[in-house]
Amino acid sequence: MKSTLRVRFAPSPTGYFHVGGARTALYNWLIARKAGGSFILRIEDTDDARNAEEWVDGIVSALTWLGISWDEGPYRQSERSDLYAQAIARLIDEGKAYWCDCTRDEIDKRASERGGPPGYDGYCRERNNPRASGSALRFKIPRPGQTVVHDKIRGDVVFDHENLDDFIIVKSNGSPLFVLANVVDDMDMKISYILRAEEHLPTTPKAILLFQALGAEELPVFAHVPVLVNAKRQKLSKRRDRVAVEDYRELGYLASAMVNYLVLLGWSPGDDREFMRIEEMIELFDIDQVNHSPAFFDEKKMLHFNGVYIRELPVDDFVNHCLPFLESNEWWSGSVKQLEVFSKIAPLVQERVSLLTEVSSMVDFLFQPEIEISAELVDSVLRKDPKSSRIIGDISNIYLNLSEFKAEQLHDATRSYCDLVEMPLRKVQAPIRVALTGSKVGPPLFESIELLGKKATLQRLALASELIGIHNP
Ligand code: GLU
Repeated sequence: MKSTLRVRFAPSPTGYFHVGGARTALYNWLIARKAGGSFILRIEDTDDARNAEEWVDGIVSALTWLGISWDEGPYRQSERSDLYAQAIARLIDEGKAYWCDCTRDEIDKRASERGGPPGYDGYCRERNNPRASGSALRFKIPRPGQTVVHDKIRGDVVFDHENLDDFIIVKSNGSPLFVLANVVDDMDMKISYILRAEEHLPTTPKAILLFQALGAEELPVFAHVPVLVNAKRQKLSKRRDRVAVEDYRELGYLASAMVNYLVLLGWSPGDDREFMRIEEMIELFDIDQVNHSPAFFDEKKMLHFNGVYIRELPVDDFVNHCLPFLESNEWWSGSVKQLEVFSKIAPLVQERVSLLTEVSSMVDFLFQPEIEISAELVDSVLRKDPKSSRIIGDISNIYLNLSEFKAEQLHDATRSYCDLVEMPLRKVQAPIRVALTGSKVGPPLFESIELLGKKATLQRLALASELIGIHNP
């Protein structure tokens, strides 16, 4: 039987899907999966001026990519205005809300004459104004009074009504305010547990008053998760920090690594364990262990997680994860032959990358008909040491005469040459690698040469000799 626990993730589609949002979604999802409850996706798109359809698509695709699946939805607030209208009518009928036609200037002027704190003073509260064009609907905060938010993470937070203005629930243009639509939906969707970002805590007493005014029999449980900060302890912001889940996906993060990293932002299972499968997270996640202090979003640590997750993949999965990244190169055709070569080099590359975007530049030498050697590498590796020219010439001869062009023979032959000329293998490998791959780093050299094949190897060595020769005749 399904549990009655119902949680929701309720993003406003006003920009790129933020890692903080992903963490909130994940925590809700874990709570639902652990309890056998329902996870609802609700798009809070009442703010026409800031919403865009592309952001809705971004949220849906990012959640899907992360594996955060919903049981209901996505509901769209923009399609639910009848419900908000009913709630508004009820609040007016029951005298719990009133129309106010004060302008911002009037409100500010009265506040400065009072000398008190800025904000609305309840001027229209007892005036029984009819609705006029341009008037806003305000909620009548019960006075005196106080509202206590019983927060699962922060404990009890008390809000004195003295510090709460009669807030607007319907704007002068007739559209309901975020907090009203939010509460009406939470009631209608029978949400029993609200886990959301800390920034919503100041709004929560207003939400609770609305729940009560609309006749909610029971309040949901509230939990406000800590803010994410950067290395300077500043709140993560899209202007300063990389925050979009989409960006991380494009950089070559694995969803599994991201989910594992995100779950630790504010929570730990209570021991030193950091790497967890999703089943373990579901089993172990406990809101009582979520910390209320800001959580450091450490990109370097997430990168490390990604490397670990990449190395753990079965090779076939690694290959599949690489394909979309390979496809963005003009040298990649995806032919059977290319796939075969890539599958052979894949296990060696897998050991050496932390991001899937690093793969292309490690393997491109195998697929490009010609490689480009930067002027910088020509100077620093090929020309700087006068021995390079000789090494390349000698090695070409040795490789030409190899009966078997396999990593082992290539290695042994190169090794013997090193002994002969009394040079370390590393020294000899450097110009060969640059000549063949156009790079100083890459997968193990002899396996790479085997895959490149004899013909291309000898051609590239000859070209490198020419390059050296041009300036060192
Ligand atoms: N729509 C709100 C936001 O995106 C979330 C509100 C909530 O979770 O209650 O920040």
